[in-house]
Amino acid sequence: MKVKSSEYVISAVGPEQWPTDGLPEIALSGRSNVGKSSLINHLLNRKNLARTSQKPGKTQKINYFIINEAFYFVDVPGYGYAQVSQKERQAWGRMMEQYFAENKQLRVVVALVDFRHPPTNDDIQMYQFLKYHEIPVIVVATKCDKVPKTKRPKQQKIIKGKLDLHPEDTFIVFSSQEGIGKDALWKAIEAYL
Ligand code: GDP
Repeated sequence: MKVKSSEYVISAVGPEQWPTDGLPEIALSGRSNVGKSSLINHLLNRKNLARTSQKPGKTQKINYFIINEAFYFVDVPGYGYAQVSQKERQAWGRMMEQYFAENKQLRVVVALVDFRHPPTNDDIQMYQFLKYHEIPVIVVATKCDKVPKTKRPKQQKIIKGKLDLHPEDTFIVFSSQEGIGKDALWKAIEAYL
């Protein structure tokens, strides 16, 4: 993908703020601190377009970026903060449910997991939730530079197994730091545009 332009559009708090122009949306989900902002910035060749995850307690928002004036990246709030209250967790759940169940422009979700560890229960739930809604998923395992090359095949197998990755879904090993997986991820995204 040749990225000619990328711009922040809106932080949506509800469906009335979602774009209605019919352009495809690619959503990105993942645990807080998984490397989502780094991945977005790396894909778009930007230093600081996507900011690091919003801290809990603030109003959670869905951030829209428009790429090449042709499609959106949709940065959904991170999950998995230990110190999040039940109330905040429920608000997050309602927001996600609404977005993933109702958004008509969504084509695929890029679901980030940390390559260094087996997926968390939250990661597994997120994947199952997307599958329940019959949404295609590209699983991206981030920070692979932290795992020695020789250990990567085994780690990949563990993650795919724990997620029970469906055969139609793509799995990509990624590092924003070392530029690993960028072309593969763009190719996987392009297939949904
Ligand atoms: P977010 O909360 O998911 O948006 O995560 P960030 O993109 O802010 O990254 C969280 C932390 O992980 C930061 O300290 C990043 O520098 C680090 N990080 C992100 N991507 C990589 C990567 O590919 N390799 C390594 N080693 N660290 C990374």
